[in-house]
Amino acid sequence: MKYINKADISFLSSSVNESFARGAVTAFLMPMDPLISDLTDIKTALSEAVTNAIIHGYRDTVGSVWVSMKYYEDGTVVLRVKDKGCGIEDVKTAMEPLFTTGGGEQAGIGFSVMESFCDKVKVNSKPGKGTVVTLTKKLGRKL
Ligand code: ATP
Ligand code: MG
Repeated sequence: MKYINKADISFLSSSVNESFARGAVTAFLMPMDPLISDLTDIKTALSEAVTNAIIHGYRDTVGSVWVSMKYYEDGTVVLRVKDKGCGIEDVKTAMEPLFTTGGGEQAGIGFSVMESFCDKVKVNSKPGKGTVVTLTKKLGRKL
């Protein structure tokens, strides 16, 4: 299936840019006339992935985060969040509920949130190279 629209953004790994990413995806999806609930789900999942790139991927360093957005004729939305940060040693373990390397500060529920708000979450990561998280969700139809 070929996408019918696509947009790419990149920004500095500063937490002030989480709202930029949320705003960008909202603007991008407007022509699809999404349900508010779908939009909220997508923004929540995207926020988790972007936050992870910023605080885990780049930790105390600064780098770029890329978000590529696509949608398809059948209402499927695909968001790809990429960083060139530290990468993840063991993706399967990292995705388990409550797993965190964030010490006492984080709950370890980011991936679980992404999975519950999307139809599919795919993680590709290479230690020392970076991480790509792909979020897929099919928009519901208005009656
Ligand atoms: P929470 O999201 O609840 O604040 P968390 O970020 O630790 O806590 P998850 O979002 O589920 O929980 O991520 C689990 C772990 O996966 C993180 O603690 C981190 O070790 C690793 N991780 C996730 N995303 C990345 C990334 N982009 N780069 C490097 N490590 C990551
Ligand atoms: Mg997280």
